[in-house]
Amino acid sequence: MSDITQRFSTGAPQNLEERFASRAAHMKPSEIRSLFAVASRPEIVSLAGGMPNLSALPMGMMADVVDNLIRNNGQEALQYGNGQGHPKLREQICEVMALEGIRANPDDVLVTTGSQQALDLISRIFLDPQDVVLVEAPSYVGALGTFHQYEASVVHVETDEDGLVPTALAEAIKTVRATGRKIKFLYTIPNYQNPSGVLLPASRRTEILSICREAGIFVVEDNPYGLLGFDKPSPNAMRAEDSENVIYLGSFSKTIAPGLRVGWALVPPSLKEKLVIASESSILCPSNFTQLTISSYLANQPWRDQIASFCELYKERRDVMLESLDEYFPATAKWTKPGGGFYVWVTLPPEIDTTALMPKAIVAKVAYVPGTAFYADGFGSWSLRLSYCYPTPERIREGVKALGGVIKQEMANRKGFELKG
Ligand code: PMP
Repeated sequence: MSDITQRFSTGAPQNLEERFASRAAHMKPSEIRSLFAVASRPEIVSLAGGMPNLSALPMGMMADVVDNLIRNNGQEALQYGNGQGHPKLREQICEVMALEGIRANPDDVLVTTGSQQALDLISRIFLDPQDVVLVEAPSYVGALGTFHQYEASVVHVETDEDGLVPTALAEAIKTVRATGRKIKFLYTIPNYQNPSGVLLPASRRTEILSICREAGIFVVEDNPYGLLGFDKPSPNAMRAEDSENVIYLGSFSKTIAPGLRVGWALVPPSLKEKLVIASESSILCPSNFTQLTISSYLANQPWRDQIASFCELYKERRDVMLESLDEYFPATAKWTKPGGGFYVWVTLPPEIDTTALMPKAIVAKVAYVPGTAFYADGFGSWSLRLSYCYPTPERIREGVKALGGVIKQEMANRKGFELKG
């Protein structure tokens, strides 16, 4: 092969697996990602993805914000910035967090490329292979993927309709420690959890904080949905009660726009330096352009009213989904009744395998996420996540009706099979 053909050859290099670092073996596409390709076909009602619904965001106003930014402050907006994040935005982030009872110093805020990057950075500085991370059962698939890539061992802790169960947490800590393994942190989503939609009450927050503090385990509080409560404001953030032991993650993805990719971590001062260095090594600095877009939006636009409009839009869709579930799902199915956020978690009779059911749902033109995606240990096969955030109310009704039909048919088939067998 000539030099030039070799250079432009598109075939994969030989022995690629051997050449990768061993951690690359843990980098696998998530169940959700492969599902999205199918679910995004226009004829399918996708109740799978958790995409924010930007139809409530006035695009003309966003265009003005960006236009003014480039015309009046383009030199700064298009330049490299500060590794920790823009100082003005860090101050404004503290004002946003004050809505959930947090009093914070902008110096302790690290701006990240979405809160997903914060999850990666925290994992990078804390997790050695086999270290344990405690998470809710079920938990956010993107966090599980990150912990997995750092070769951590994920241990799920029991939840009920009020979220994480404190006694189960205390028990899990004891059990894991008896095996000699190190627990590095508890990862929790206390508000309108992804995937269950449940809200952790204030009393449980206090109990969980005290269990973790006494056990010397950090709490990573991931809170992208906290301001999206429909019926009443969510309780104060866990970080409001404990500034020493909680690493708080926030994001503008659900309250402004995910395409800007701006999130943050509010960290105990002792952790800041390591996290900033870790972030600089992956991105040098967060984008000044998107940070200043958000900063100008927060300074000049009625952002609280905008969040209220998002809540109205999501509440209407939540109501339609819950009504449709009542109407079209079998009586033996159970589901959560979220007071905010994007998701409903459905539990079916244990003989129904929601991964195996997916092709039949696709034929019926509806998609969801099978429950096993939200567990690190293969559990959850008879549950599924439905998102109501993106489709129109009519499509939600149509999708739930179709899925209810598929599930009822599957249950009838199984019954027939059992009777015959
Ligand atoms: N945490 C949770 C619980 C999420 O649901 C998401 C996005 N779906 C993220 C973190 C990441 O969000 P982003 O990176 O857009 O801030």
